[in-house]
Amino acid sequence: MRSKSAIFSPTHLCAVLLCAGTVLLVANAFAHEGERTAPATTNGRAAHSALPQIAPIGVPIKNHLPIPEHAQGPALDAKKGYRLQELGAGLFMISDNIYQSMFLVYETGVVVADAPPSYAARIVQGIREVTDKPITHLIYSHSHIDHIGGAKQLGAVPNIIAHTETKRLLARAKDPNRPLPSITFEDRYTLNVGTKVLDLSYHGVAHEPGNIFIYAPDQQTLMVIDVVFPGWMPWRRFALAQDVPGYFSQVAEIGKVPFKTLIAGHVARTGTPADVELQLQFMTDLKTAAGRALSDVKPGEGLAQPALTNPWAVFDDYIDRVAAQCVSELTPKWASKLAAFDVYIWDQCYAMEQSLRID
Ligand SMILES: [Zn+2]
Repeated sequence: MRSKSAIFSPTHLCAVLLCAGTVLLVANAFAHEGERTAPATTNGRAAHSALPQIAPIGVPIKNHLPIPEHAQGPALDAKKGYRLQELGAGLFMISDNIYQSMFLVYETGVVVADAPPSYAARIVQGIREVTDKPITHLIYSHSHIDHIGGAKQLGAVPNIIAHTETKRLLARAKDPNRPLPSITFEDRYTLNVGTKVLDLSYHGVAHEPGNIFIYAPDQQTLMVIDVVFPGWMPWRRFALAQDVPGYFSQVAEIGKVPFKTLIAGHVARTGTPADVELQLQFMTDLKTAAGRALSDVKPGEGLAQPALTNPWAVFDDYIDRVAAQCVSELTPKWASKLAAFDVYIWDQCYAMEQSLRID
């Protein structure tokens, strides 16, 4: 850890180990008023003996750890509000440096994959920088509104392609901004347009049911959204993966695809096989650390009555101490390797211990 100010200071440490909103106001008071001792209103929650240096969930981080160089991406033209990245043979990534989607220009039209609402209004403008051809196909990577909720802003698109599970979820959502797909598939779908090809495939539930791989073989580009975060800590709780073991195997599966460029849906740059490998290493270390903490930490240790007769309290205390040990173990190796380690490491440890206990 390089920035001392990013660290939860010792006087903060004596205040809390948070996991719920009951103590949130107290924690906020600490963060905003600086150093002071614990007030008497922490509803009896005592400090754990070996608290990590990274501020726990609910405590604002005053100064975040620096973003490592390798996690940074090309600058955005603020006036345009989007960035095009040419990937060869008619394929382009379009991004606002927070979200990412792509489009493929072929002989008589354009295929768009995803339309994040944050810049969907500018996708057509981006396409018009390179071609006047009409948008003939829209592919949904998955059903989530933050990646496809701008679909209507592309105008009327004749063909919308998605996995059957995505169609089911969209039918349930009844969202006018996410029109139902007109073409669905189960395992594989090859889209041949002119001389161009996109291979769509399904690899089971990780992030959510219906989330697909979109592979452009000629450009060696793979688009898989919300699973890998190039250079960055995954978004909180493995990006809210609905199946954590499925998420672990899917990251490994992504690593086996012969791609050079990964469009992962977020952050300012595209990914590489090395990014996938780094995230896998982190996940392996996280699994090991959480597993070790689950067996090292003893439930109820150090607790007094009446907490000991409150099973929820005993469990809450146990899980907090498990997460604390997990965070402490990972911090020396990973705090400067993945951007925003300090933002989400507690979330990852809580998600990991939970999955190891119940999945
Ligand atoms: Zn998503």
